[in-house]
This record gives sequence, C-alpha cells and structure tokens, in this order.
Amino acid sequence: MQSHSQYVASDNALRDKIVLITGAGDGIGKQAAITFAQHGAEVILLGRTVAKLESTYDEIVSNGGLQPTIVPIDFKGASPKNYQDMVASIEGQLKKIDVVLFNASVLGNLCPFHEIKESEFLEVNQVNLNSQFFMTQALLPLLKKNKNTSVIYTTSSVGRTGRAYWGTYSISKFATEGMMQVLADEYKNTGIRFNCINPGATKTSMRAKAFPGEKPDSLKTPEDIMPTYLYLASDDSIGVNGQSLDCQVK
Ligand code: NAP
Repeated sequence: MQSHSQYVASDNALRDKIVLITGAGDGIGKQAAITFAQHGAEVILLGRTVAKLESTYDEIVSNGGLQPTIVPIDFKGASPKNYQDMVASIEGQLKKIDVVLFNASVLGNLCPFHEIKESEFLEVNQVNLNSQFFMTQALLPLLKKNKNTSVIYTTSSVGRTGRAYWGTYSISKFATEGMMQVLADEYKNTGIRFNCINPGATKTSMRAKAFPGEKPDSLKTPEDIMPTYLYLASDDSIGVNGQSLDCQVK
C-alpha cells in the first residue's frame, strides 16, 4: 500500500468539503489552507494576525480557489463562550464542517524544567492545549451532524518522547496526543475520526526559533509535507482513527 507520506490526491479530492484550519496565516497552516483549497475545499482561515490571514486568502483567490472565510481569534484570551459563538456563526453561515486541522501552536521558551515560569507554562498551554480542548467541545455538536468528519491535531516528536529543556511545549504535545486518543476511543464506530499529524522538522518560523543555528535549506518545506495532510483530510482516510502519523517517514 502507498504510504500516506507519498499520498497523491486527485485535483478534486476535497471538493464539497469545508475545512477549518487554525494558525492559517503562517508556516504549515498557511500551506495547508492553500493546498486544501487547490484540491477543491472551501477553507475557514482561523488565526490571530488578520494581515497574515488576508495574505493566505489572497493567495487562495488568486489561485482560483473558492472564497475563504476569515475568523480572527487569539487563543491566548479566548474563552469557551468565544468558541461556542464562533461555531454558531460558522454553522449559521456555512452549515457544516467536514475537516478540522488544529495546527496553531507556540514554542515558548526552551529552558531547564525548574526555570519554567508560571506565566509561561500557563500561556503556552492556553494556546497549545486549552484552546483545542474548548474548541473541540464547542465543535462536537456540529461535527456529529455530519456523516464523515476528520479531526486532525498537530503533534511533535517531543509529544511522544520527552526531551530535556523542551518542558512546556513537550507536555502540551503529549496532552494533545492524549486528547486525540480519548476522543478516538469515545467516537469509534461513528462518522468522526480523530488523528494526530507530526510534521517533522519543517522550514518555518517556529523551527528557526527552536534551532537558530540550523541551515534552513536542509529542511523540508511546508509544501513537501502536504501529502499526509491531504490524506487525513480526504475520504481515503475514512476508517483511520486514533493514529499519530509522521509526515516524514524515514
Ligand atoms: P509557525 O510558523 O510558528 O505558525 C504557527 C501558527 O500558529 C501561526 O499562524 C500563528 O499565528 C498561530 N498562532 C500562534 N499563537 C496563536 C494564538 N495565540 N492564537 C491563534 N493563533 C496562534 O509554526 P509551524 O512550524 O508552522 O507549526 C505548525 C504546527 O506544527 C504547530 O502545532 C507546531 O507545534 C507543529 N510542528 C512544527 C514543526 C516544525 O518543524 N515546523 C515540527 C513539529 C511540529 P501568527 O502568525 O499570527 O502568530
């Protein structure tokens, strides 16, 4: 069987699908939004910097894609009520969501465990974990109305094996994997599938912050890793549930 990292999606693989992407203004999330739109999806661009979301929007429209919807929200300060209102507004406008890609995250500061500041720990987990928890809760009633829904969370290799000095980020990604597994078990045998995706080392601002001395040209680009994203978003992954897939299979 072809590996998901080599998956080739047909041009219309995501036709009639509405796809919500968090952190759609930069890095991997921006590329995922553009790629999904190129394969026929109508995308909802969620993020905190409106100018960046507008740049993703412009690129999609100039490529001939369907007109996206922009949803500005800062995970740092968002409350459960904000997510409920956001979902109600999307439901009113677009009626359904077929795919959710939880992609937005922050790295925080890499430092020894005992030096992690309370404010830093709370803020990184608010953005990386709590946002996904409350947004998933708000989305579930709408997602359950659909016959076939794919929910994708973004993990990291440090979400599976702990790494010194990566404390807060690593813990937030372990929790992301755990949340995905709980949901996958709770919703098995339903139309909703929950999986994680691990991009692997990818040329973005987050990677440059984590490894400032690295030569970026040695890295995969966001575009290179899109096959696994397309696979999990498409109907070819129906039946795949509770998995954590690596985009860069060695
Ligand atoms: P990135 O370039 O830093 O992009 C992160 C995105 O998250 C940006 O669009 C950013 O919006 C958004 N975001 C950050 N804080 C937010 C907040 N408070 N509210 C709403 N949105 C917020 O990172 P990336 O490398 O593309 O990473 C994408 C995902 O892949 C992350 O989950 C990351 O942990 C994971 N990952 C990346 C790598 C890698 O090598 N790049 C490896 C493993 C896992 P702004 O641009 O407006 O700040």
